[in-house]
Formats: sequence, C-alpha cells, structure tokens
Amino acid sequence: MRGRVYSVRVVLLGPPGSGKGTQAARISARHGVPAISTGRLLDTEIAAGSPLGRRAESFVRAGELVPDDLVLDLVADRLYGATASAVVDHVPATARASHDAAVGASSVARGGSGGGASSTGTLTAPPATPTADVCQGFLLDGFPRTLAQAEAFDARFACAGCALDVVLDLDVDEDTVLERISHRSRSEARLDDDAETARRRLKVFAEQTAPLRAYYAASGLLRTVDGSGSPDEVAARLEAVLAEVAGR
Ligand code: AMP
Repeated sequence: MRGRVYSVRVVLLGPPGSGKGTQAARISARHGVPAISTGRLLDTEIAAGSPLGRRAESFVRAGELVPDDLVLDLVADRLYGATASAVVDHVPATARASHDAAVGASSVARGGSGGGASSTGTLTAPPATPTADVCQGFLLDGFPRTLAQAEAFDARFACAGCALDVVLDLDVDEDTVLERISHRSRSEARLDDDAETARRRLKVFAEQTAPLRAYYAASGLLRTVDGSGSPDEVAARLEAVLAEVAGR
C-alpha cells in the first residue's frame, strides 16, 4: 500500500556517502517533486564546458566546495529560471539586507540584476516566481552546504515562495560512509571518489556543512534520521518523518 503522498519542500543534509542521492530519488518518485542535486547540476555544467562549469571544475575534482555565488546562481536558475541576484531584487529590503550580510558583496560584484525594487522594498517589477515544476515542492540534495548558502537561501529564495518544510539530516557513521564511497567509486565514474578526495570531502563536510545542523535546529526545521541499514529501511524512516511534518 502506498499510503498518503505529501507535497514537500525538503533539504537532504548528511555527509558524502550517506545515501542522499538514493533517498532523494525515492522521495522524488513517491511525492512527485523534482530532486535537485547541486552536485549533478555542477557535473552537467562541467561536462558542457560552460563558463560556470570551467570555474567549478577544479573545486569539484579536489573535493572542495564550489564558491557560494556560483552555486546560488545554479539553484536560482533551477528554482526560478533567474540568476540569484535577479531573485533577491524581488524580495523585501529587510531580507535582502540579511542575504547581503550572508554572502558579502558577491551579487554587487557581479553587477546585480539592474533594479526592480526601491530601497524600501517596494516591488517595481513582477516578483520572481518558482518555475512550474517546483510549485508542488522540491527536494534539495547537497544544497545548502555552507552557512552562507543557507542564509542566502532563506533571505532570497524562501522569501520568494520556496520556504522549506523540513531538513532531513541522514546520520551515518564515518566508517560506513567511507565504505559506501569506496563501493560507489568502483561502480560509478565520478570525478571525486578516490580515497583521498573522499576523506577531503568528509573533512569539508565536518568543517563547513555540519554547522548547518545547529542553524536548522534553531529554526525548528532539523530532523535527524538514522541513515544506517538498507535503502528500504532508511526510506521508511524518512517517510515517517515526512508524514509527521505534513500532518502538523
Ligand atoms: P555531491 O554530488 O553533492 O557530493 O557534490 C559533488 C561536488 O560538487 C562537491 O564535492 C562539491 O565540490 C560540489 N558541490 C555540490 N554541491 C555544492 C554546494 N552546495 N556548494 C558547494 N559545492 C558543491
């Protein structure tokens, strides 16, 4: 029996190798929402040799994080069909100020999008609206990965119609994660799955992404889920949380 299916706006948190991709595909199929993986979006840009892909490639190969402004533009494009600075120009001035504090002057440095809102936050152009396929919900796999990305998401994108319902944190111990990554490197051709890069990615997660747990716990969105066991077992735990979130 399939049971009820809920429309959801979800972030999947959890270290590399915690099973985010596998679970994202399942949640996407079950709830009919797109799974948006910034890792995959970056791979596509790199394979296409786009300017963004060329800037991102060395970071991905080294297991380092790609700069926030590139990733925010990718996500803005996927959610709104606009650059991140175009989205932020359509949200209230107070939220913009919070965003600007989060990511520094990067949108200014790129030249912004050329107006749209007055200094009081009054819209002078149509607000950015989520693209059709994310209106019923979406699942973000691998984004946000830094505090600046999370804060920019809240300040720019959540205000423009994409507020999150829940952040699912897959809790898996380091030995299991390394074993899963090593298995994956034998079966998939990824740019970044050799043992040394895998360790680097885990360190980057601990330093730059793990602090998001406290950030989302503070806003009441964080739900930590045991990520050990079979994909079916983990999926059942995640579904139980999603049902609970939908029912509250
Ligand atoms: P993933 O497939 O999610 O493990 O991502 C693969 C690689 O893409 C990461 O190791 C980073 O180099 C890059 N990447 C993916 N998502 C992000 C993000 N949100 N911020 C910065 N870099 C990212």
